[in-house]
This record gives sequence, structure tokens and C-alpha cells, in this order.
Amino acid sequence: MPTSSSTLLPFTPIPRPEVVSLDEILPEEPLLMMGAGPVPIPAAVAHANTVVINHLGSTMAKVIGQVKEMARYVFQTRSKWVLGVAGPGSAAMEMAISNLAWSGTRVLAIKNGFFSARMAEMATRCGAHVATLDVPDRAVAQLAEVAEALARERPEIVTIVQGETSNTVWNHQLKEIAALAKAAGALVIVDAVCTLSTMPLEMDAWGIDAVITGGQKGLSSIPGVSLIAFSDEAWQRVKTREQPNAHWCLDATLAEHFWHNAGYHYTAPVSGVLALHEALRLVCAETLEKRFARHLKCSEALQAGVAALGLTLYTPAPCRLNSVIGIEVPTGLSPADVCGYISRQHQVEISGSFGLPIVRIGQMGEQCREHNLFRTLHALGKTMLDLGARVDLPAGVAALEQSLSERSRGR
Ligand SMILES: *Cc1c(COP(=O)(O)O)cnc(C)c1O
Repeated sequence: MPTSSSTLLPFTPIPRPEVVSLDEILPEEPLLMMGAGPVPIPAAVAHANTVVINHLGSTMAKVIGQVKEMARYVFQTRSKWVLGVAGPGSAAMEMAISNLAWSGTRVLAIKNGFFSARMAEMATRCGAHVATLDVPDRAVAQLAEVAEALARERPEIVTIVQGETSNTVWNHQLKEIAALAKAAGALVIVDAVCTLSTMPLEMDAWGIDAVITGGQKGLSSIPGVSLIAFSDEAWQRVKTREQPNAHWCLDATLAEHFWHNAGYHYTAPVSGVLALHEALRLVCAETLEKRFARHLKCSEALQAGVAALGLTLYTPAPCRLNSVIGIEVPTGLSPADVCGYISRQHQVEISGSFGLPIVRIGQMGEQCREHNLFRTLHALGKTMLDLGARVDLPAGVAALEQSLSERSRGR
């Protein structure tokens, strides 16, 4: 009798690799994630992320129904056309761009930095005719400039970022810019990856046609599952285009099978969708009003603390982003020195920024907790001292405390 193994085909393996377990790779104490994302996740989100269910069927349909309903609240839209996407915030971005723009589409990209430039790049790759409005670093687009660019370029689509995470600029006139673009007959795509649920954004009231976000920033979910909402007008454009989207996975008309008709497109990242469900549920439980207030209070207190240390905030106050704070690195130090030291010595993770002379501290979701602020500000101040920069650590911590307690008393 031949044994079953004798029926195996001859196999001359490439030898297996020698690896270590995660216990040997991960730090003993988890790092406090205070950079520009990913951010810490609540226990309910972490737990949901351990569960696998059937990606089709009635349980998933119920989950998807609630995710869409909650996402509509967070986007502040009544549009039916909310969809999720397996992928980073950039996948949602590419879903917005590639479904709405194609060969010859006239796109005006308002470019504030690294991420808003990505939208221009994606539109170019779709074959669109892309004009950019280049906004200087640490500034926002002026309404007159936007109006002029709209008149000159007559775009079908305008792209803009609400918070440019790279240089920590906030497009605080987003509502007015969207109104100008609408009046000029363009659809407006907004990147709200770092800002959604940290500050007001009213998709319907502001006339926005597509909003995108990722999981790992304001929403405090895991990276890798993202959300997008299209207005009725944008959806009409998606459904009536002549050439199909070249990106099969990102084709919104195919994603509709799963996100609206309980059918198959690709196997959804079920655990990540469950995690996102819990993150959205926590936003709804907190309410947007209270969540915005918590973000503002924490971010302003941290900014006060950083300034009282004697460090300089990168962006001028009127266009300063609250959800990610940019801090100039004192001369003689590099962002990599600061980020490396604070991580090794204090188990606090913060970010550099694509070549800019700054470090960035996030104020998104779970990062906006008072105990995290004290630990982070102390670690930053101590890092600066140890690396030879002159900062006033007690003054920084005192200013943080004072700002928080004043705001708790309602000033
Ligand atoms: C982080 C970020 C992105 C990119 O998100 P990924 O998940 O890294 O793809 C895009 N836009 C903004 C404003 C961001 O902050």
C-alpha cells in the first residue's frame, strides 16, 4: 500500500526563513502613538478588530447598514452614496478622483502641500487636464485667487484638503471655497483624512460632492479601511460616464454591489469594517459637538504648552491646523534626532514631516486625552533638554495645565 505521502510531487524547497516572534520585535511597553497617524485605538475598536465574520450575509449587511448611517452623521450628509474601501486614506482619495475624473477632465487642484499634491498627481494619472493653484507654505488659498483660477481654468472638478497634515495648514475657508467652486459649476472633492470628526465639516450644507477619510486619524480606528461619500450630483457623474474606471477595485459602481446591495465585489476586510463600526459608534455616542470641543480644548492647550516651552509653532495662528501640530526644531537638531530620542527614551512616538524642519504631534481621536498631553509635552521638553536645546520645561507643563483648567471652567 503506498502511503498518502508517496503521492506528493517531488519538492525541492527554497529553505524556510529564520525569523523571530513579534514578542521579540515589538517594544515591551507599547509606544504612545502621538504622531500624525496612526493613532491609539479604543478598546472596543481593538476588540472588534479581532473578530472575523462572513463578509456576505445578514450579519454583515446589518453592520454595513449601521456603518453607512453613522458615516452619514460624521460626514454630515443625507446622501445615500456612502461607501467603504479596503485600503488607506489614499485609496479613498483615488476612488474619489478616478471615478470622477478621466481623460480630458478639467481639474483644478488647490495645492497646499504633500497630500493636496497627491490629489493632483492622481488626477494627472487618470488622464485629466490638471491645473494647480500653488499656495505658499504656511498659507491658505485666498478667495480672490480661487475665483480667478476658477474663471481661468473652468474646471469640472476642484480638489482641496481641509487640513494639510504635512505642513499643518488648515484651509479655514473651505466652506467659502466650495461655494465659489459650486457657483462656477465644478464638483468639489475634499480630503478630510486628518480632520474628519475633529472639527466641523458639513458635506451637504457646504455643497461638497465627495469627502474622503481614512480610519487611522480622527476616527481612531485601524489603518487600512477608509470611507468615502459622494453627493447625488457626483454619483450621477460616476454612473453616467462612458469609459469604465481603469481601477477595478476602486470602481464605485462595482463597490455599490457590496456597500448597497449586499453582493460581492471583493472580500471586504471584515475585521477592519467591524473596527470602523465601533470607532464610528463611539463618535456618535460622544456627539460631534462634544468631540470638536474636546479636540479644540486639547489642541489649544498643547499649543500653549509647546509655546511656553519656548518652541515655535510652524504655522501662523489663523491657518493653523488643530488636528496636527507642527513644531519647529531648534537649530542644530534634526527632526529625526528628536523623533528617535523621544521614542527610545520616553516611548512616545511623534512624526517628522517629509523634509520640513519640523516635528508633528497629532491631536486626533484618542490622542486628545489630557493624560496623553502631559506625558507627550513632558517627553518633548525633556528630549529637547537632553539634546541640548534650551527650553523651559516647568513653564511648558504649567501652561498646559493652566489652559486645560481654564477651558474646563469655561473661561
Ligand atoms: C494621512 C493623510 C492622507 C493619506 O492617508 P493614508 O492612509 O496614508 O493613505 C491623505 N491626506 C491627508 C490630509 C492625510 O492626513
